[in-house]
Amino acid sequence: MVEWSAKPTVVARVVDLAEAKRRPDDRPDDRPGGDHRPCHNDLLATFNDEGVVLRTHKLGEADRIITVLTRQHGKVRAVAKGVRRTLSRFGGRLEPFSQIDLQIVEGRSLGIITQAVSRQLFGQALLTDYSRYTAAEAMVETADRLVEQENEPALQQYWLLVGALRALGGGTSDGPRPAAMILDSYLLRALAVAGYAPVLAGCAICRRPDRADFFSPQAGGLVCSRCRPAGSAAVSPTAQAYLGALVAGDWDATRTIPDRIQHETSGLIAAFANWHLERGLRSLRHVVR
Ligand SMILES: [Zn+2]
Repeated sequence: MVEWSAKPTVVARVVDLAEAKRRPDDRPDDRPGGDHRPCHNDLLATFNDEGVVLRTHKLGEADRIITVLTRQHGKVRAVAKGVRRTLSRFGGRLEPFSQIDLQIVEGRSLGIITQAVSRQLFGQALLTDYSRYTAAEAMVETADRLVEQENEPALQQYWLLVGALRALGGGTSDGPRPAAMILDSYLLRALAVAGYAPVLAGCAICRRPDRADFFSPQAGGLVCSRCRPAGSAAVSPTAQAYLGALVAGDWDATRTIPDRIQHETSGLIAAFANWHLERGLRSLRHVVR
């Protein structure tokens, strides 16, 4: 059963031109560290969206740049002012893995986050468990890498990430699963959405539909004994079926998978992900398998 979805919410986009004209000198500071002269040609645009925080960077003494994968606007970077102060009005809502409703006032380069309300506290369940935490780190890093362009909607990647974090924090509808298994399913599906679906039916090289019992990350999936490049790993029929279940998000089919198969397959998936993501995934090294 494919269950990684969530109900949509209405998102308003407000462009208040009258307000922008009326208060040209009262616009938000969109050039942190720079001068604050108002630019009268800009429009003061505000938008609301929901998103998952992917990462944060320090900015100046008290601010952070927050990278968020949003539902409507894709990957967005915006400044959260005063967020590093003890009594910040944002509290801990702008930490990685947080799913939030946010309001952003657009600036010339970076927007300013003016509101952030928690939707789900994935972080609570993820921060207290090392294997879940490292899996969540690998997820947000993957989403950050796969969604390269900022401000371009990436709806499928958004729902995949939300669903994966939810399954990681609260289990699947079919019960809990190891963090590494949820991560592996997420990696395969996020890569597939990005155009790197693993070939699991027949040989990825000669395309013959019959026996392909080896896995080659660089070939793009299963390969047959004649085509297999050096370094290909043998994959049992059980492991092949398991890979298919992970790609499909079929948790029911993963319930009785032996640990040995899960661990072997997890190594192949990590190699596959690293092969397709230039430079590899930093956080994959820390995942508990
Ligand atoms: Zn072949």
